[in-house]
Amino acid sequence: MGLYRTNAIVLRSIKLSETDKLVTFMSEQFGKVKCVARGARKIKSRFAGSLEPMTHVYLIYFGKENQQLFSLNNADIIESFHQLREDFQKLYTGVYLNELVDAMTVEMQEDKQIFQLLLDSLNALQNQSGFETLCRMFEIRLLSVSGHRPELNHCAVCKTAKVNGWVGFSYARRGIVCGHCMKQTGTEIKFTTGTLNYLRKLLTLDINCSGRLKFPKGMDEEIEKITHRLILSHVGRELKSYPFIKNMAAIG
Ligand SMILES: [Zn+2]
Repeated sequence: MGLYRTNAIVLRSIKLSETDKLVTFMSEQFGKVKCVARGARKIKSRFAGSLEPMTHVYLIYFGKENQQLFSLNNADIIESFHQLREDFQKLYTGVYLNELVDAMTVEMQEDKQIFQLLLDSLNALQNQSGFETLCRMFEIRLLSVSGHRPELNHCAVCKTAKVNGWVGFSYARRGIVCGHCMKQTGTEIKFTTGTLNYLRKLLTLDINCSGRLKFPKGMDEEIEKITHRLILSHVGRELKSYPFIKNMAAIG
């Protein structure tokens, strides 16, 4: 039996029985972890409030190494991110980020970068009003730290760095295609180098400044076609929370 201690973010929390919850965490030290929280559904639970999705906690759990399900010992709140739950746009955006991490990771694979990306993004979401740029930034960075970074500097076919005017994008090759190669191979979508520059910025800009980066009209959909569709090609299905995000964007 081992006792494990780590910083973690609650990804989701579901009912397991009349008294217990099954909680999925993205931890800093041990990757994604699932724990049974005994008594968590009782009114006077010692886990009160600490198992809400998006809560940043100091987690202590135990169990045998390599087992799938652990027992929750303690979850002390470091940051509750309660402001995210008071605003529907922020709440659903946060739920979407959580869902993405859950869908893109497997259990017990340490990934400090994903934990940090999620924590930084929840902080940014709490402190700013824009959320579309943050979603796109999160999508492309999650792909990158998961080893699926799209190639935005060189043509995915001929490797040239010289791309002017219209640029294509190949989902199969996971990268941009120059004008010359586009004529020969064709691509599913094409966009201007202006859009390409915004895509590159999503990879380099400080996540706390995502609220300041606004896409020109029409470009937001082009960018979504790259980042969100790339995510879908890995996950293999649409994310449950995504229609809510789309509706919010439509309402503005
Ligand atoms: Zn080329």
